[in-house]
Amino acid sequence: MSSSRRIPRYIFVTGGVVSSLGKGIISSSIGRLLQSCGYSVTIQKFDPYINIDPGTLNPYEHGECYVTEDGVETDLDLGHYERFTGIRTTVHNSVTTGKVYQVVIEKERRGDYLGKTIQVVPHITNEIKDRIKANAAGGEFDFIITEIGGTIGDIESAPFLEAIRQLRWELGGNAICIHLTYVPYLKAAGELKTKPTQHSVKELQSLGIQPDILILRTERHLGKEILQKVAAFCNVGPDCVVQSEDLPSIYEVPLNMHKQGLDRSILARFGMENSEGHEQSLQQWEEFVRKEKELKSTVKVGLVGKYDLQDAYKSIRESLHIAGIHAGKKVEIQFVNSEHIDASNVQEMLTGYDGIVICPGFGSRGIDGKIEAVHYARTHNIPTFGICLGMQMMVIEFARNVLGLNGAHSSEIDPATPYNVIDLMESQKALKRLGGTMRLGAYACDLLPGSRVRAIYGKDTIRERHRHRYEFNNAYKERYEQAGMRCTGRNPENDLVEIVEIPDLKWFIGTQFHPEYSSTVLSPHPLFMDFINVL
Ligand code: GLN
Repeated sequence: MSSSRRIPRYIFVTGGVVSSLGKGIISSSIGRLLQSCGYSVTIQKFDPYINIDPGTLNPYEHGECYVTEDGVETDLDLGHYERFTGIRTTVHNSVTTGKVYQVVIEKERRGDYLGKTIQVVPHITNEIKDRIKANAAGGEFDFIITEIGGTIGDIESAPFLEAIRQLRWELGGNAICIHLTYVPYLKAAGELKTKPTQHSVKELQSLGIQPDILILRTERHLGKEILQKVAAFCNVGPDCVVQSEDLPSIYEVPLNMHKQGLDRSILARFGMENSEGHEQSLQQWEEFVRKEKELKSTVKVGLVGKYDLQDAYKSIRESLHIAGIHAGKKVEIQFVNSEHIDASNVQEMLTGYDGIVICPGFGSRGIDGKIEAVHYARTHNIPTFGICLGMQMMVIEFARNVLGLNGAHSSEIDPATPYNVIDLMESQKALKRLGGTMRLGAYACDLLPGSRVRAIYGKDTIRERHRHRYEFNNAYKERYEQAGMRCTGRNPENDLVEIVEIPDLKWFIGTQFHPEYSSTVLSPHPLFMDFINVL
């Protein structure tokens, strides 16, 4: 493709029948397929809830909070987008109803609407349309994929669907809608049922949106007749109904979609062809999936955290799996609830793991168990990876048990601690509030020559994403260094400690940042690679 300004084509991805069908994986797979045809893509998520962003949502509500390089707290689907496509998302890739209303209300207060009554149509829908088009401003994308959160028929998604209806009209041949539905299997009847799909499409049509392509999620293989029946009932071409069967791995989804010609069907709807000179073919992806099927050995990793939920530590789990596949190892991850760990059972709870990850988090729940786990791992030389709060726990444990600072803590958990080895920066203390005071997004970090992390990354300076308020207290740095815990990564602008490691141990590294956010399928993160390699 030429590097000149591109005409953006829009793909809207909606979901029907039930939630949790994996729209994020489907959107990411479409992105990856279009890249393999030589096109540049971005993927954005529009969520109908009223929170401004998921930053304040409990992971039990919404899974992990994913952070972009430019410091936006977003939905975990953006993690899938980045991992599948290698693109970097920004503030433009994550929009919620709350954000849209906030902007419209600010404009109203400024008097931008010239005395008009502000209404959902056209003010909210216009703002949504502007937001959908925001990623086109730079002219760098051939395709802008927009995933709409929620399920067709939800009250709160109505303004988003109306915006899509209008945009499809305005953009003519440059916009299509892909609708993901579910085909249940009724065991008693021994039948696969297409009726919910027909109803869901009817609902979309009643909103003025005719889907161009249907993707049917199913637990059982759908025969040709079923696909043809759906096509006939739903006004779509027979080559525009594909199925998304349950597969052993989410990474097989793009290949399965490709096998059914989804990429060709999408391009055909736009009157486009597979571009010449394929910038990134599917070859590397196929290689990755092939490797995943031929893993030779298994390693067991204990995820020490407080949320017993697959999605809560999504990016960490995926980073471990991806690194494992590249290293030829199957990574078996088991959740270890830190709330249940104490000195009497820590040995039992951590037995059998080749390595442990001490997870990020906020607040005091499960903190003592994390410190106990770090203590056991450090004194038994178990490879340990501390991430954000996990790194802070490494620092606290070392203070208490090596430096002899009894009661050392983070001032987040114990504001009256005699040794505040983890503390707020002075500038943060002055703010006296929680909202909007986190260090978010990518910051530079210099790596100490001769350190393990310097060797792992193979460069002097890195950039990694942050999401935290508390920091290593530099007043204690000398003592740590002398006792064997080294501060090997430092922020060049404000001298904050970003990485600690104990070089004498097999693998004991803590990062104040979140390396899991920047791991991708084709470019596994060096720290996760090295961690898996030593197991
Ligand atoms: N609660 C800690 C802080 O705010 C760590 C945050 C995290 O693990 N993301 O500094």
